[in-house]
Amino acid sequence: MPEMLEVEVYRRVAAGALGRPIVAVDAPDAWFLKNGTTAGTVTAALVGRSFVADRRRGKLLLLDTSDEGPTVGLRFGMTGMLELDGVDALGDLQYGSRRRDPAWDRFVVHFDRGGALRLRDARRLGGVELDPDEERLGPDAASVGAAELGRILAGSAAPLKARLMDQARLAGLGNLLTDEILWRAGIDPARSAGSLTPVEVRRLHRHLRRTLDELGARGGSHTGDLQEARHRGSVCPRDGAALERRTIGGRTTYSCPAHQR
Ligand SMILES: [Zn+2]
Repeated sequence: MPEMLEVEVYRRVAAGALGRPIVAVDAPDAWFLKNGTTAGTVTAALVGRSFVADRRRGKLLLLDTSDEGPTVGLRFGMTGMLELDGVDALGDLQYGSRRRDPAWDRFVVHFDRGGALRLRDARRLGGVELDPDEERLGPDAASVGAAELGRILAGSAAPLKARLMDQARLAGLGNLLTDEILWRAGIDPARSAGSLTPVEVRRLHRHLRRTLDELGARGGSHTGDLQEARHRGSVCPRDGAALERRTIGGRTTYSCPAHQR
C-alpha cells in the first residue's frame, strides 16, 4: 500500500503537471470526494486554472492552484495509484493489480493539448478534497527533528508503534515502515511511547531518517530488510531468533524478541 515513500514518488511525478492549463475534470465517484467537495465544486475550482506547486505532508499529496485558487488534496488509501499522461507513477513497483479497470478512475484532471493526471483506486479508501486541513497532520516524518520526536512520544501510554503511526502526531509512517524502523532501532513496538529514554529517542530518530533514505533509494516501503520475514514461522534476519507476530495499534506487527527491547 502507498506509504509516504510512495506518495513522495507520486509528488515528483505530479510535478510534471505544473503549469498546464486544466480544461476538464472527471470526478464520477461522489464517495471519493471528501468534506463537502463535490464534482461541481472541484470542477469549477480547477477548470481554467493550473497546478502551480506540488507538496507532500505525510501521505497527503497537495497541489496548489493558480490565481489564488484552492489546494487539491489527494489521499491514496490502500490501493491508490497516480498516473500522469498514461504512465504509472510507480512503474514496476505497483501495488495490487496492474489491471486498468476504468471503473477505478476516481479523479481525472485533463490538460490543455492533451494528457491527464489520473488517480485510480480499486478499494476507494483514498479521497480528494479541496483545501484539506493540513494542520490536522503532525510534522512530516522525513523532516521531524530528534527533539520534536521526543516531544511526540513523551508522556504517552500508547504503544510506541501506534504513536508513530498516529498521523495527527507524526505524518507519513505506515505499517511496513514502522516495523522496519523499530526492528532496525532494536526497540519493542509494544512498549509505551513515553517509556523511551533520551538515548533511545535519538537512536530511533537516527534509524527513522536512515530507513526513509535507504528505502526511498531502493524504491519503496516494501524494500526493507525485514520484509522477506513478514510471514508466520519466520526468523529474524539479523540474529535468527523466531520473530513475534502480534497485533499492535490494530495492525499486524512483526518484531524480534531477542534484539528489540
Ligand atoms: Zn533479532
